[in-house]
Amino acid sequence: MRVDKLLANMGYGSRKEVKKLLKKGGLTVNGEVVKDGKVHVDPDNEQIEIFGEVVEYRPYIYLMMNKPRGVISATEDVSEPTVVDLLQTEDAIYEPFPVGRLDKDTTGLMFLTNDGKLAHQLTSPKKKVDKTYRVHIDAPLTTEDKEALEAGVILDDGYKTKPAVLTYTDGDLETRVRLTITEGKFHQVKRMFQACGRKVVELKRERIGTLHLDPELQPGEYRELTDEELESLR
Ligand code: URA
Repeated sequence: MRVDKLLANMGYGSRKEVKKLLKKGGLTVNGEVVKDGKVHVDPDNEQIEIFGEVVEYRPYIYLMMNKPRGVISATEDVSEPTVVDLLQTEDAIYEPFPVGRLDKDTTGLMFLTNDGKLAHQLTSPKKKVDKTYRVHIDAPLTTEDKEALEAGVILDDGYKTKPAVLTYTDGDLETRVRLTITEGKFHQVKRMFQACGRKVVELKRERIGTLHLDPELQPGEYRELTDEELESLR
């Protein structure tokens, strides 16, 4: 990778600022001063230092966020705040993107990374990664509704959903349920309940595959995945 790109990616400034830094002789690669930004470096095998400080390069970042309401799951938007806007600069410089979508009014687990391969694995329909949502609906479900939701319901566009698992989360208060699905069609959960004549009042994602939302994270907060969480996702 070109050293000027690497340093810009790592937050050492814009390409122009990095050029200045290089001109000043601030960069050494294996102890040799490098002033030309076009020089290619191998951050895994070469010691890169900025003014004597070793640069720890890591290509990927893996974050879990408790997405708050009112924020959209995109990297940028002209009028709405996005989940990426909630990141600190030191994390945003890695250019993570949200993996999968949550509606603006949906809260809960959002996974962000710049690792396209892992993102693809988690969102590819072939992989059938299951996702669990806590759902608050406007009126109780009947036993028939529950069975239909689990077996597959016909959505407004004629699509029949794949088998799902539905449990009651709050005793027999049948307006609070937990739904696990293996698909990710547009507004899928809301449309599944709509197919049974119910309206979703609140929706929160709790889990994507092996990754569970950390209950310590308040809405809008995020943290890096632990090594164990990352390993189990792969
Ligand atoms: N299903 C929905 O309807 N909305 C979401 O945000 C996620 C799943």
